[in-house]
Order: sequence, then C-alpha cells, then structure tokens
Amino acid sequence: MIRSLRAVSRLGARGFSSFAAARQENTTVGTTYQEELDVVNQLKGSVTADDVTRLARMRNIGISAHIDSGKTTFSERILFYTGRTKEIHEVRGKDGVGAKMDHMDLEREKGITIQSAATYATWIKENQDYHFNVIDTPGHIDFTIEVERALRVLDGAVLVVCAVSGVQSQTMTVDRQMRRYNVPRVTFINKMDRMGADPWKAIDQINAKLKTRAAAIQVPIGSEGDLAGVVDIVKEVAYYNDGASGETIRVAEIPEDLKELVAEKRDLLIQTLADVDDEIAECYILEETPTEEQLRGAIRRATIARTFTPVLMGSALANRGVQPVLDAICEYLPDPSDVVNTALDIKKDETPVHLTPAAKAPFVGLAFKLEDGKYGQLTYLRVYQGQLKKGMSIINAKTGKKTKLARLVRMHSDEMEDVDSVGAGEICATFGVDCASGDTFTDGEVTYSMSSMFVPDPVISLAITPKDKGSLTNFSKAMNRFQKEDPTFRVHFDAESKETIISGMGELHLEIYVERMKREYNVVCETGKPQVAYRETITTAAPLDFTHKRQSGGAGQYARIIGEMSPVTDMNAVNEGKATFAAENIFKSEIVGGKIPEKFILACDRSFHETAEKGPLTGSRVLGVEMLINDGNTHVVDSSELAFKVATQRGFYETFMQCSPVILEPIMTVTLTAPVEFQGALIALMNKNQALISDQDIGSEEVTLSGECSLNQMFGFATHLRACTQGKGEFSLEFSHYAPCSPHLQKELVDAHQKKLQAERDGK
Ligand code: GDP
Repeated sequence: MIRSLRAVSRLGARGFSSFAAARQENTTVGTTYQEELDVVNQLKGSVTADDVTRLARMRNIGISAHIDSGKTTFSERILFYTGRTKEIHEVRGKDGVGAKMDHMDLEREKGITIQSAATYATWIKENQDYHFNVIDTPGHIDFTIEVERALRVLDGAVLVVCAVSGVQSQTMTVDRQMRRYNVPRVTFINKMDRMGADPWKAIDQINAKLKTRAAAIQVPIGSEGDLAGVVDIVKEVAYYNDGASGETIRVAEIPEDLKELVAEKRDLLIQTLADVDDEIAECYILEETPTEEQLRGAIRRATIARTFTPVLMGSALANRGVQPVLDAICEYLPDPSDVVNTALDIKKDETPVHLTPAAKAPFVGLAFKLEDGKYGQLTYLRVYQGQLKKGMSIINAKTGKKTKLARLVRMHSDEMEDVDSVGAGEICATFGVDCASGDTFTDGEVTYSMSSMFVPDPVISLAITPKDKGSLTNFSKAMNRFQKEDPTFRVHFDAESKETIISGMGELHLEIYVERMKREYNVVCETGKPQVAYRETITTAAPLDFTHKRQSGGAGQYARIIGEMSPVTDMNAVNEGKATFAAENIFKSEIVGGKIPEKFILACDRSFHETAEKGPLTGSRVLGVEMLINDGNTHVVDSSELAFKVATQRGFYETFMQCSPVILEPIMTVTLTAPVEFQGALIALMNKNQALISDQDIGSEEVTLSGECSLNQMFGFATHLRACTQGKGEFSLEFSHYAPCSPHLQKELVDAHQKKLQAERDGK
C-alpha cells in the first residue's frame, strides 16, 4: 500500500468529504508499489515520444517544512538562481520589499507564509532545460488545507529541516501529510551556517522519527561562517558557491581533509540503499562498489518509491548548497508520468480511470486554488491529461457550466506570464472561471471527476461581527471569498443568537481570517470566545411513530410516519478502535403500495437532513443517524408536504431522545516536543489535560510525546506549555476523530443549551 494511497485518496467522495469518509477511502483499498509501477509503465506506453521528452523535464514540487526552518528563504533562492528574480529579497521585509513568494502583505509583515503561491521557473542542468512549478506550502498545522491542497497537485517535495533544531513536532506533521499523499521527497538540511548545526544528528532523527530511510548524499565543506559549499558523495566532487550571492558554482576536487568523511558517508549511503534497492543489495552482497550511475539510479528509484530520502545540506541565507538541491530535484524527484493519478468516470458508475499525461488525450484538470486578484478570481489549475489552450471551452464537472478560457497564465508569485497553451502535468492559472477549489474541469469529451481533497471538518468556531455596520457589504464579500478559497473555513448565520459564526481548524486559522478581513477588506471585527464544534449522535435504535395533527380552525394538517431511527455504524472507525460514528446521515424510505405519496416522502427526506443540522441536545450538527420510514398514514384533505415536514422534524427529535443520544467532541492528535529535562513536566501537562499518551520518544536531548486529547482541553495550551518548559516546548495539533464527551460535560452542555433556549423564548 504505497503509491496507491495517493490514487485512492484522490478517489475520495465528491464535494467535500468528511474526515471519516476520507479515512475510509484511504484504508480500505490497498495495492503494492509494484502494482502501481505497473500502471505507470502501462500509462507511459500510451504517451508519445514528444510527451516523454517534455514530461521528463518537468517537476511539480512543493517545499514543506516546519515554520522558521527557512522554507521561504529557500524558495526565494530558487527564484533567484533560476533567474526568476534579479535580486534576493530577504524574508521579514528588512529591505522594505519582502520575499517574493510571500506576496500577501500580512505574510510579509509576519514573515510567514500562510498561502501557497505557485511559481514557474526554469533550471538548466547538464545543458537541459527543466521546468519547475514550485508551490510554496505553509508550515503551520492550522493551515492544513493549504498544505494538503498543495501536496495533492505535487509530484514531489523538498522537505526543509533546520540543522540546529532538527526534526520538530511540526516536521512530523508535515511528514505525515506527505505520506498521506504519497509525495516523494528530497530533504534539505538548512541553516548549516548556524552555530550548533549538526546534519548527522538531523539525519538520525529523520531515520528514527520519520519512518523513511534517509542518508546524506553530501558532506558540508567548512562550517558555520566558513561554510563554503558541499561535496557530492555520489559524484565525488566538491561544489563551492562563489560570487556575492553564491550564484557561481565552482566544481573542484574533494578537499583532502574531507576525503575520509566522504568515504565513510558514501559507505553509509550504499548500506542504506542496499536495504531498499535490489540492485544495490546485490552489489553489497557481492562486495562490489556500485558505480555512480548505479547509485543515481537506485536513489531515484527508492525516492520515487518513497522508501528513501536523499539528504542534501547547506544554507539558504548564506547562499550555500541551494543549486545542488535544484539538480537533485531534476535527478531524483518524479516527473508527472511517474505518478499515478486517478479520476472517476461519472458516466460509467464512477469507475476509477487512470489519467494519461498525453497531449492528445481529452483534457482533464483540477482547480486547486483560488485567489482574488487584481483582475478578478484567479484559478490555479493542474492539467492532468490533454492540453489547455487559450480560447478553448472547459466544463466544470460538478456544475456542468461551460467557460471559454480568455486568458491562460503561468504564475510567478504575484506576477504572471501569458501563455497560449499548457500541457499535461503542468500548473497554470486562469481568469473568469466560476468554481470552488477542488472542482474538476474537462473539455466535455470525457465525464471524469477527480476526487475531492482530504478536507477535515472544522473543529472550532467563534461569533464574529463587524464593528462598523457600514462595512457589512465588504464583510460578506470577504466571507464569500474565504469560503471559496478554503473549504475548511465555514460561515453560517445562527438564527437564534443572530450572530455570524465562523468555523475552522484551530484558533490561529480563524485569527488569520479576522486579520485578513481587516487588511484586505478594511473590516474591523469583534469576535466572541472560541467554541468547540460539538456533534450529536445516537447509540441505540428505537422505533419511530409520530403523528402530526392540527385540526383546529382553517385548513388542518395531518401526517403520520412510522419506521425506525438507528445509528449508522462506521466499520472503518470501529476497526481502528475509534468512534463508531459515521459522518453521514441517511434517510431511507421503504414505503410500499403508495401509502405515503412520493412527494411527501421527498418532503420527509429534506426535513430529516435539515433537522439533522441542529440536534436536540445542544443544537449541534447530528452525525451518523439513519431514519427509516416504512409505514404511515395520510389524510385526504389535511395531508401536505408541510405536514410531513413537521412530522419528520418532531418525530426526529422525539425518537432521537429515545436512542441513548450522546454529544461528541473533537479529539485531537497532539505531539509535544521539548528538551529532555522537561519530560516530567510534559507528562504532567498531558495528564492535567486528560490526554492519552500513546507514544513517547526519548532522545539524547529531546523528548517527544504524542497522544490524543479532546480539543476542549486544549485552549490556552500554548501558554501552559510555554510556562512549564521555559518557552522551549512546542506542539502540534491535528483533528483525529469525534468521540463521546463525558456524561458530566454532556449534562453541562445540555443545561446551558436549555437555558439559552429558555432565555430566547422569554425574549431576553
Ligand atoms: P519559514 O518560516 O520556514 O518560511 O522560514 P524563513 O525563510 O522565514 O526563515 C526563518 C528565519 O530563519 C528568518 O529569519 C531567516 O532569515 C532565517 N534563515 C533562513 N535560512 C537560514 C539559513 O540558512 N541560515 C540562517 N542562519 N538563518 C536562516
């Protein structure tokens, strides 16, 4: 089950699948990497020689890292060395310009990247042009959706790790995401110019913590301020960065004093590769030294198979060792034809089909990012098969809407270059296309739909109101925009409290939108306290029999529904020992003999789903409930759609309460890392938060704890962690699943809800 995950995760539910649904898709199907390779070879057989040549020089890559490890600086260097920018602008806007990749003002000011930006660049390696699409991905876990989206359209990635702090808890989160999407990666150990830089320790940590074999393919020349370049231990040559910005690569012999270290690390590389590659294993057994060609071939194979990551090193800030990473991207990361991408054929009962990156194939593309630009909505597309040409019409697979492409551009951060066509495997952007992020486009010849991305449910929400009522128009504009851009950001109006509620993936996620509202739309907002997004469900079944009757004055109302309400069991989650609650609510009708006319049943169906939006316990959304109607009664005059709607709603509420209802709370996977002397403090903190510790990794310097904890317990966690680790601890938080909350909390929540309803009834 290697590359298949990627294909399968792309097969997830259309629309925005829930976390549980996506998990289910991910875990039920499994193929081996060999099977996947067979598909790749088969697809390669159906492309032309021209396609092969073009694809072999294309790389769609992302740069993923823990925040502050230098990802933005590194991306900036890529633009500079590929000639995309004429000078280097540092992060944090010291020169008043700011890094090119961080094109939102907010990013510039904070010096962090919060939105992916795609950039097209060309790198010349051994007299061959290679075209890169670089997607800068955000490092913070609260922006998971951005990372997930980027990973989905990428074929490979550079994982940037800091040479001083090594693998941190967020590096592990990023790693998990990469594995989820089966993205092969090369690793770059950055900040080798800093005091205390230790690439060997970082590599040990990758091996120990990231579950991917790693070995250095370089050795640094000099250290700290004297870092001069790197030795390539595969080719056995030294690369020095000369020139004011390290722009000139001087190839030289390996310095005498490094020869021993290079030999030692070369042996280690061969040993590591022997574990993951048959050809090298054979050399190893026969005690033969593999040739440079053999090593390069093995590194490429094992990297693409995701059993290995080659490790490079240098310093982006000091302009050392960046160009060899560009070479490594060309050499070791897959081209678009090395990756299996799958769509569903809607006309053929959603049969999965592999997409062929051939120019002649019918066009299929995916909108993976939207941005509000100067000229309207900018839509980023990845072309999976066929060609996208200016002037052609494309059809949105979801809405059926046809759009003529007036403009096609390649993006260079916030600048663009007009092009007439882009081929399969490429990334481009266009204007005037009405869609949401995640929509599939075709040329109408095929009816394929790519799967939706992995979209977790929001777990936190807060009330928000613009301070100045005059800015309401801008406020709703911003809300619409953000929702279209980011499916994990949701907005709804709560009719009871008369408040607009925004929900998302974490406190910081929501904070950023509040901030963007202010900066981009000039709307200052007041926000309420963050609230955990609870859900409600039932744990047992009960018969449903409800009669709605009103016969006093005027037209009467009559509807009777009979059936059952029962929990929907999510076997996948059960097998994982997790919650038994499916995300879907199901309405079923088994009415025979027209006992209830079809149109009334349709009214029941709609009413059931509407009612499930607000559960009876706390008004939270209901999950995993099935309603079956198999009998009932009508009245010749008094039955109406409205009567059946009301009967369903009331019947739902009444029966729900007889089915042992529970309130579900979000459970998060939490990972904490701190220097080893704080181990006791971390455990105490986890216990205080009633977290279940599932893993403990005690290194020589750092300790990492992981476990599960309810989101409820996590408010203010950052402050507590800082306090108990002298600011040296860090944590990452990711939604895992929903689980029943304690009876005590359930009672508290139900009482508070009842009180609120009462107050509303009293008109307070
Ligand atoms: P990001 O959050 O991963 O995008 O990291 P940035 O590129 O914003 O870098 C974070 C900080 O580390 C900035 O102050 C950079 O100037 C600094 N930095 C980045 N690369 C290096 C490096 O190679 N050496 C040193 N010493 N500092 C670096």
